[in-house]
Amino acid sequence: MHGWNGNILRMDLTKKKSSVQSYDKDFALKFLGGRGFAAKILWDELPKGVDPLSPQNKLIFATGPLTGLPLTSSGKIVVAAKSPLTGGYGDGNLGTRAAVNLRKAGYEAVVIDGKADNPTYIYIEDDTVEIKDAKDMWGLGTFAAEDELVQTHGRSVGVLIIGQAGENLVKFAPVLSQKGRAGGRPGMGAVMGSKNLKAVIIKGTKDIPISDPDGLKKLGKEGYADIKGKESYDFWIRQGTMMALEWANESSCLPTNNFREGVFDEAKGIDGYRMEELKVSRRGCPNCNMQCGNVIKDTEGEEAELDYENVGLLGSNIGLGDLQKVALLNKLADDWGVDTISAGNIIGFIMEASEKNLITDKYEWSSIEDARTLLEAMAFRKGFGNTLAEGVKYTSQKVGGDSHKWAMQCKGLECSAYDCHAAPGMALAFATSSIGAHHKDAWLISWEIATDRSGYNKEKVAKLIELQQIRGGIFESLVTCRLPWIEVGFSLDWYPKLLKAATGEDITFDQLLTTADRIYALIRCFWKREYPDFGRSWDMPPERWFTEPLTKGPLAGTKVDRTGYDNMLNWYYEQRGWDANGIPTKQKLEDLGLPDVAAALNIV
Ligand code: SF4
Repeated sequence: MHGWNGNILRMDLTKKKSSVQSYDKDFALKFLGGRGFAAKILWDELPKGVDPLSPQNKLIFATGPLTGLPLTSSGKIVVAAKSPLTGGYGDGNLGTRAAVNLRKAGYEAVVIDGKADNPTYIYIEDDTVEIKDAKDMWGLGTFAAEDELVQTHGRSVGVLIIGQAGENLVKFAPVLSQKGRAGGRPGMGAVMGSKNLKAVIIKGTKDIPISDPDGLKKLGKEGYADIKGKESYDFWIRQGTMMALEWANESSCLPTNNFREGVFDEAKGIDGYRMEELKVSRRGCPNCNMQCGNVIKDTEGEEAELDYENVGLLGSNIGLGDLQKVALLNKLADDWGVDTISAGNIIGFIMEASEKNLITDKYEWSSIEDARTLLEAMAFRKGFGNTLAEGVKYTSQKVGGDSHKWAMQCKGLECSAYDCHAAPGMALAFATSSIGAHHKDAWLISWEIATDRSGYNKEKVAKLIELQQIRGGIFESLVTCRLPWIEVGFSLDWYPKLLKAATGEDITFDQLLTTADRIYALIRCFWKREYPDFGRSWDMPPERWFTEPLTKGPLAGTKVDRTGYDNMLNWYYEQRGWDANGIPTKQKLEDLGLPDVAAALNIV
């Protein structure tokens, strides 16, 4: 088989045994890789009701047919498991040398189950797979622990690692790599911690099997040049995703004071231009010529990598308008292994709860000291932090009052950095995302603001589904970074050509869209299997966006219209081929080649 190695590495930490499972071209073409492989494996192998933090859960690292090849932004890996935060399907992606090395070691994925007796790490070097002692590293932050592992195994290894938050089973702990690249917001790091697994180290020295190596090399080179020639390339290199901050503030969608407002008076103190004044270097994922990790020095004089999401949540959302203070929080979160988005969301929630006297302790908006205290409490499960570590939904149940209305989450996952009072399509995108309120699957908001902001119509719904197909389905399964396409306009036409050179298969873009639908439907069914009442009521955005209009900025008075939202949700289900309760129909599942899934759920 070309394009895919055809191998999945299996590791059982309880039995201390590894094995290699091969898969065929049918499987590869049907699920592509990355998220597709992960969703299929979790659906097939996890019995309903498995405790996500038990040895029975499976932690999956998965790449795809474009990962690791000499082409743009191909150094990414998906990490997936049943989520301890939401109880549903969970995943995320991160850029790391481990992605490239996994493919070069001869595998597309690693599936880890069981639980080690003691803190361990897994070392993979081509066909050699070893479980090693990590007792001395348990309790270390991700920075020091990764340094130690690189010192032991050499600079060429890829490291996937958790911090103290993952060890402490903080339910929104991600997996990290290369000091700041993180993925798996719905608690993939906690799943890793529950297995007593501190790190996975990967070294690969083989060639990835390619159908047309010369053709791929040529296309890859042309692709890099194409990106470099784009009009917006230079500005992207200057600011990366940080350029979104000024836009978000001007567009009234910058989350401010726990998503109460969409404009922040001190936005200039944390925007892309302020970052440029402080910038000391740039980092990024392997094989990328758009490196977007902007590094500044924090208030302690140490380096921290920033992007828009972190700054939106740890800055404006908690009222903090000093970028170096934001950078400090960001660095601590990356080192302790806490998700920056969820952390900033929860800190904002607690500051509002304090303002409203729903809790006795005082936490002030914009206080770096209070924010740091809360961040540390959640990472180490200290005192009230033990509640915060369970996520904002659970915390709001403990805080009580009407706080569930302004606990900014969908399906239990904290919203990422877009206020949706004046963006109903993005509210629908959050609510229908396959992992909870994350922008990864459909960053509809830039299109929505540029075209038809106040509309509630079928065209907007169609655009949302198209984005979910492309971003949440295709890019997450190929596995390669979507930012060249979305940020500088690298054409989608490249991908079938790259796939052809890699695999030798003629896979049309329409076929890729169908694959994306298959993966989305399968994930939807995973949720349904876990939660019998799963359906329409789960696809709702936070109540705040319906009931409390913006009070500041040019769009003061705006909120999401409930009837308009309900109509869009109906159209969404119709266009997806799902029933009125949001469950894929038997016909749809059969059309997607998933009749066994329909049968398992008794869908008639
Ligand atoms: S654009 Fe940014 S996130 Fe994407 S591969 Fe490059 S460095 Fe990584």
